[in-house]
Amino acid sequence: MARIAFIGLGHMGGPMAANLVKAGHEVRGFDLSDEALTRAREQRVEICETIAATVLECETVITMLPAGKHVLAVWEELVSTVPAGTLLVDCSTVDIESSRSAHEMARQHQCPALDAPVSGGTAGAEAATLAFMAGGEAEAFERARPLLEAMGKKIIHCGGPAMGQAAKICNNMILGISMIAVSEAFVLGEGLGLTHQALYDVASVSSGQCWSLTSYCPVPGPLPTSPANRDYQPGFAASLMVKDLLLSQAAAATTGAGTELGRMAADLYQQFVDEGSAAKDFSGIIEMIRARSGQ
Ligand code: NAD
Repeated sequence: MARIAFIGLGHMGGPMAANLVKAGHEVRGFDLSDEALTRAREQRVEICETIAATVLECETVITMLPAGKHVLAVWEELVSTVPAGTLLVDCSTVDIESSRSAHEMARQHQCPALDAPVSGGTAGAEAATLAFMAGGEAEAFERARPLLEAMGKKIIHCGGPAMGQAAKICNNMILGISMIAVSEAFVLGEGLGLTHQALYDVASVSSGQCWSLTSYCPVPGPLPTSPANRDYQPGFAASLMVKDLLLSQAAAATTGAGTELGRMAADLYQQFVDEGSAAKDFSGIIEMIRARSGQ
């Protein structure tokens, strides 16, 4: 059993902390939101009033926060509070620069550190089936592994500092682009008189097959579990897709990588969000594509 501090008990962090409790660990939690604290308390997370009280005598601190600026602010406080040797793990999705800065802060205070963003959404967080993509030294990864295994089922070491974030934004760029491709194909098929089921039956066993089609189909019917069957309730909100696509665009600007489709995808999801769909599932973008096609 380990003693763990968990900071950021929101939609993802709350159920992740609960799974650490279920695995037998002693978990102390901190968040700025009363609602998040109430839910975490119900899951037997011991709530503390300050970050300093939360991390006291904890061997590991996990953060699950909205964006890079939150992570840097919290880690700044962490490194000046915890003893050297405390393992710091950030599971938030943040920009590469912030992730590198967080690792550097930890290194200066002799704290092993890991960036370990996740894939799998709130359902994966609740079911402890998240995929973790981790960046950091092998020693930090091996120390964190048993804790990550209590919250997920795929734990992948992607390389040194910030390489977990790199893998996450590259993966989500594929996802954002492929969802638009699948949506455009369904809208074209509709215009041609092709049924959703017929296109699904062909493309799911042909070269058009991809996760956006067969695990997250953007039209209702062929795949009853996809958000399309519940009026595009997320799932993975369009606003979060915009966030991740802008992170990959910012990263591409630093390397010079050609990511034309990534840029177009970011623009299209931004328009979808601006039309009032920020809280809809990102696969709802098919409705915008359909409306613009006059269908
Ligand atoms: P959320 O907004 O529900 O939770 C974030 C929590 O952090 C909030 O409860 C907020 O009060 C808290 N917080 C903010 N600043 C804080 C501070 N200084 N100290 C303590 N607590 C603070 O967000 P979420 O959906 O849980 O997402 C968290 C991260 O996970 C994000 O980086 C997101 O991109 C990533 N992510 C989310 C999903 C998803 O489906 N929701 C999937 C994969 C990755």
